[in-house]
Amino acid sequence: MLETRKIISIGEAAHAIMTHQKCGTIEHVPLMACEGRFLAKDMIATCDLPHFTRSAFDGFAVRAEDTASARPEKPLTLEVVDHIGAGMVTDKIVTTNQAVRIMTGAQMPAECDAVVALELAKEFQKDGKTFVTIKRAAKIGDHISYQGEETKLGTTLVTKGTRIHAGISASLATFGYETVPVAKKPVVGILATGSELLEVSDPLVPGKIRNSNTSMIVAQIHKIGGKAIYFGKLADDFETSYQKINEAFAKVDFLITTGGVSVGDYDLMPDVYQKMNAHILFNKVAMRPGSVTTVAEKDGKLIFGLSGNPSACYVGLELFVRPSIRAMLFSSAPHLQKITAYLGSDFTKPNPFTRFIRSELGFRDGKVFANPVGIDKSNIILSLIKANSLAVLPGGTRGFQAGDQVEVLLIDDHEGSEWPW
Ligand code: AMP
Ligand code: MG
Repeated sequence: MLETRKIISIGEAAHAIMTHQKCGTIEHVPLMACEGRFLAKDMIATCDLPHFTRSAFDGFAVRAEDTASARPEKPLTLEVVDHIGAGMVTDKIVTTNQAVRIMTGAQMPAECDAVVALELAKEFQKDGKTFVTIKRAAKIGDHISYQGEETKLGTTLVTKGTRIHAGISASLATFGYETVPVAKKPVVGILATGSELLEVSDPLVPGKIRNSNTSMIVAQIHKIGGKAIYFGKLADDFETSYQKINEAFAKVDFLITTGGVSVGDYDLMPDVYQKMNAHILFNKVAMRPGSVTTVAEKDGKLIFGLSGNPSACYVGLELFVRPSIRAMLFSSAPHLQKITAYLGSDFTKPNPFTRFIRSELGFRDGKVFANPVGIDKSNIILSLIKANSLAVLPGGTRGFQAGDQVEVLLIDDHEGSEWPW
């Protein structure tokens, strides 16, 4: 039986994990399927944007110098020599006192340097020709969108490790990226341990509970950007547990087990990890919930032994599994993002260990509040329904009052932070 437990700080635990980072690998996915994936390379502008100088308005392309004398009391008339819409290019050469009727997005005639808005011009026909009268001088550049004004060829658009969203998709489409280099999703295996566990579909029977950790973890892993594989649940039996955990470990980038990491009679994980010849990085962290979180390493791969208690399992995953997955997704900010907010209600218990209070962010009087969402015990499930953040109450503190400033970790944020500890 593995008995030695040396308590370490959250920062030390996170550091130990980050010293065993695995390299991410690249795959190319169709642009239409890349939403939520993480870029494996910096993406570069493949041309100027726009790549030709175009009209930003519906109107008349003119040579500004021709219009200098136009006044409301002394309108100027120009001959309209062509009519072009978006996607069209004129083959006319525009000379003195000529104009081209042009629609938004159409390429500017080379000789023109301003656009007079349609509303400020009056078109008329005479002797089979078209003319336009304008009452105001145009300035060079009026209503023109110049080649390269948005960005220049070769500019970095988005950096490696960025999570792709709609705006990024639009930008990549603009530059012709039909497929996108993204990080392959790290494969995270899950094994739930505990003889008390039923599958979700099982009817309730005395003494047993449904396995809620697996679906929670699957959702967390998907949110973080990994691929989850559930290898099933294990009764608290050493030999089968050892065998199944060993088998599953070989098939994944990371393995998560839940339950069995405390010091109870049926808490087998520490011994299973030891028999696997995995090196225990830590087995006690100065935090609540989740102090029994245990992480072991074998052949450069990590096994996360998360507590069976749902809230402890949840927090342990966000603090320790998340950065490992995000590092494989090329993120330079793999940890939870930290902000400062006001505590929404009193928390009067002293905190020997750093405590993470499941909270929901709210806004009042222009301030951000972290509102605790329910009973703060590690076995509680339903407080997670509303939780989108974790208020951090540092170890060694004697309790907090509503309105105290606290640090808060954001669970649903995708920016992340480099190092919040
Ligand atoms: P353990 O970490 O194995 O000591 O489990 C701590 C508590 O969490 C016990 O009350 C277990 O019944 C409960 N538990 C363990 N695994 C799960 C699970 N997969 N889903 C829900 N509760 C669990
Ligand atoms: Mg158990």
